Amino acid sequence: MTISIVLGAGMVGVSTALALQENGHHVVLLDRKAPGRETSFGNAGIIQTEAVEPYAFPRSVIDIARVALKRGNDVDWRLRDMPRLAEPLWRYFAQSAPAPYARTIAAYSQLALRASDDHARFIEPAGAGDLIARQGWRAVYRSPVTFDAAAIAADRLKTVYGVPSDVLGTDELAASEPALQRRLAGAVHWTSPWTCRDPGELVARYAALFVARGGTLVRGDAMTLRQDGAAWRVSSEDGVVCAENAVVALGPWSPTLAKTFGYRIPMVFKRGYHRHFAGHDGPRVPMLDVDNATLVAPMNAGWRVLTGAHMAPPGTAPASRQIRHAANAARELFGLREPVETAPWSGTRPCMPDMLPVVGPTRHKGLWFHFGHGHQGFTLGPTTAFLLAEQIEGRHGNPLALSLTPSARGWA
Ligand SMILES: Cc1cc2nc3c(=O)[nH]c(=O)nc-3n(C[C@H](O)[C@H](O)[C@H](O)COP(=O)(O)OP(=O)(O)OC[C@H]3O[C@@H](n4cnc5c(N)ncnc54)[C@H](O)[C@@H]3O)c2cc1C
Repeated sequence: MTISIVLGAGMVGVSTALALQENGHHVVLLDRKAPGRETSFGNAGIIQTEAVEPYAFPRSVIDIARVALKRGNDVDWRLRDMPRLAEPLWRYFAQSAPAPYARTIAAYSQLALRASDDHARFIEPAGAGDLIARQGWRAVYRSPVTFDAAAIAADRLKTVYGVPSDVLGTDELAASEPALQRRLAGAVHWTSPWTCRDPGELVARYAALFVARGGTLVRGDAMTLRQDGAAWRVSSEDGVVCAENAVVALGPWSPTLAKTFGYRIPMVFKRGYHRHFAGHDGPRVPMLDVDNATLVAPMNAGWRVLTGAHMAPPGTAPASRQIRHAANAARELFGLREPVETAPWSGTRPCMPDMLPVVGPTRHKGLWFHFGHGHQGFTLGPTTAFLLAEQIEGRHGNPLALSLTPSARGWA
């Protein structure tokens, strides 16, 4: 039986462990924490089958100036962090030009469109159906100008990819969301995505399924990974683990481990913040206030208010501007009460400059990369896990999988 180590028990690592297990591997899943306690814990919990076109770097002078001047709440940055961020951001800008972006979308749309089918392979066996709602989510617009543009864009996604949506005017939106305190210009209701009331718990249930199916879950430090002849070894609290394959699924920490083996990964780190609020009156389905880059999602822990992207390298201090603005915007819309936690949560979206996850072999035999899922790792974890498992099993014929490999991107 093939033995494989998966490093990192976020949505991506746990899904990898399950997919390899389905292919007959004995898998040891290693993390320094319990499964699903980092980025996969703090997200908005949306399985985003509508996200067929990933977030590109702005290309127009007006949009770049807006971000540079911090005119919106969607992006924050600090001048002192720019030297560390400049190269990946430059690559991100270059990869967002029309031709490379079209290539990215061709792959990304295929991943997003199958994401809920791939989650479905785990949700029921994991007994996690109670965490999932199948009512979609809404993007709402305060300004008629942004609403009209969004309605046209939604229509395009319906025509090109078959992504279903309903466009709601002011009255229809008010009727759909009775707790809404303001009249807004309108909404796009993305009807196909599934949403999760506790993203960290979903990962924990997937991990419990993995253990119930015979997998081994251990605590340890992935940075102890070493190549030893044809084998890979890592130290855990239960002793040294030795395997034929090692999969790096450490989310935003992946470049640090990859660097020790000589790989320079230009990751774009987009931090996000959330905070839960008490109260009875929030949205029925997750609601993105687009004009304030603020998402409010009903969660088991309270009303989770989330922010856009703070371009922040690892280890830098959290900033409060975006979450403060988001909490104020959310309170304009709903009767939210006091915060549940004493301080906001923050975590980092592991984004690649070409906006595609990195999935496949490295130039070290038996060392595999599986990270860089950016804004949609909670969505795409199972999908890319199945693609990686095919490759580890030696089935290399899938053109979609080939477009995601480190070598196709110049990093192996
Ligand atoms: C505010 C916000 C909202 C988001 N909303 C959504 C959404 O609605 N839908 C969506 O699809 N995506 C969303 N995302 C993105 C999504 O959360 C991430 O893409 C995804 O969680 C990444 O998963 P991962 O498994 O790669 O990383 P992680 O979940 O971070 O897992 C990495 C694991 O590696 C472990 N680790 C790190 N270093 C070591 C070490 N040295 N030794 C051992 N273990 C280690 C960590 O403990 C962690 O468990 C959002 C992100 C943010 C920040």
